[in-house]
Amino acid sequence: MTQQVPLLINGELIQSRSTTLIQVTNPATQEVIAQLPCATSEEVERAVAAAKAAFESWKDTPVGDRARLMLRYQALLKEHHDELAETLSQETGKTFEDAKGDIWRGIEVVEHACNIASLSMGETVENVARKIDCYSITQPLGVCVGITPFNFPAMIPLWMFPMAIACGNTFVLKPSEQDPLTPMRLAELFKQAGAPDGLLQIVHGGKEVVDQLLTHKDTPAISFVGSVAVGEHIYRTGTEHLKRVQAFAGAKNHMVVMPDASKNQVINAIAGASVGAAGQRCMAISVAVFVGESREWIPEVRDALAKVRPGAWNDPKAGFGPLINPQAKERVLHFIQEGKASGAECILDGSECVVEGYPDGNWVGPTMFRNVTTDMSIYREEIFGPVLVALEVDSIEEAIELINENPYGNGTSIFTSSGAAARKYQHEIKVGQVGINVPVPVPLPMFSFTGWRKSFYGDQHAYGKQAVRFYTETKTVTARWFEEDIDHGVNTSIHLR
Ligand code: NAD
Repeated sequence: MTQQVPLLINGELIQSRSTTLIQVTNPATQEVIAQLPCATSEEVERAVAAAKAAFESWKDTPVGDRARLMLRYQALLKEHHDELAETLSQETGKTFEDAKGDIWRGIEVVEHACNIASLSMGETVENVARKIDCYSITQPLGVCVGITPFNFPAMIPLWMFPMAIACGNTFVLKPSEQDPLTPMRLAELFKQAGAPDGLLQIVHGGKEVVDQLLTHKDTPAISFVGSVAVGEHIYRTGTEHLKRVQAFAGAKNHMVVMPDASKNQVINAIAGASVGAAGQRCMAISVAVFVGESREWIPEVRDALAKVRPGAWNDPKAGFGPLINPQAKERVLHFIQEGKASGAECILDGSECVVEGYPDGNWVGPTMFRNVTTDMSIYREEIFGPVLVALEVDSIEEAIELINENPYGNGTSIFTSSGAAARKYQHEIKVGQVGINVPVPVPLPMFSFTGWRKSFYGDQHAYGKQAVRFYTETKTVTARWFEEDIDHGVNTSIHLR
């Protein structure tokens, strides 16, 4: 019998009463590693109620105590780093090194949350009118909800609940149904760090559970990361219910290669950024735009991609793992077929990929197309697989126009040795995260993760100062203290004197 994944409600790991079970599988073998219950509506209700009750005392907990919880949590996450990465590798198929990166990028956000006192400081102006001071304070919202995708089961939950809870909120997390074991372990360690009961709940399930959380009267803030279609549903439904929502969605990230770039840097950067994690990263480079003579490097980029081979999580020579499930593999193979049928030239084809010893894995090998046009589905859609498409243009202006016409705006990069070209690119490109000679420019947590256009719905982004704005209300106080010997009499106007 495989284990049934528990729910976490009010500090207790409980077995769901649900009879609807989802199988959690190892994507390299199809072995079932756990059964995941879809929480019942009554269980979701209890989770929200527990979070609401815990908020009453947590909101008044001194900021130093909140920060110290995060310090203890950060230390425990570091101590259990490799164990967490192993669990993560088994349920996602990521290589061990990549899984460690997933954990580490999450730990960095917890470190950031330790600074909550300075992050949540308000502003003061003395004498906004004579002897009247004005100052702002930040206060938590209540029960915040997080809905997370499969591709970063540690980092993305850690973008959300540590920042929300450090701000004084409580939290209900609905992790991806495809890899829930890592988030469960994160929650156990949070409890071990001393988190009071009710601070963090975990409920499992799909659309029904999400919709209950999204429309619940006691959940004022929703954080979502996932695909565009679901992100649009979350944003529309959440805002229709008058909640604040931040929804991080899909991407199609372009890397511009200028002819004056360092060729070796370009080749290594494209290979790693396009097929790393089997292309299942929202910041993966899926389009390379070769400007002018840099198009001559396309065969060498192809050769570099061909050398990266997929394999099992514990194979130290594997460059990336399998796709998350057989449907994801079928979807990627379908795009490769469509690319060929639409007239693009497939110069590297990973459709028939085999990994010795793992006949049932969801493998797709590195794949590359050239002679791609912007009307083809392999250019327009997010493939979310190890597939790179190459476009060729004659100038940086043409590259910028092409990228700005693409509906997504998550990440992009330019490789060049010209400061002027880099400056022009950073200024004119309509994408939220720009790398200059950096292929995957994911900001560290002192900044925020700032996707634009169809890659993000909302206004305040994840982590950094923006997360504190998202997870708090600002209260602005205008204060006058009367000096005993001064009598201004009754003031009937709103004019402050
Ligand atoms: P997904 O949209 O299928 O699932 C995300 C979450 O939504 C899961 O918890 C899932 O259970 C839930 N969900 C699925 N269908 C739903 C529905 N109809 N109604 C309500 N909830 C639903 O995404 P995924 O496949 O897990 O993740 C991959 C996607 O996430 C890619 O598009 C990727 O670009 C995107 N992503 C974006 C970012 C970013 O920061 N922009 C980061 C990581 C991943």
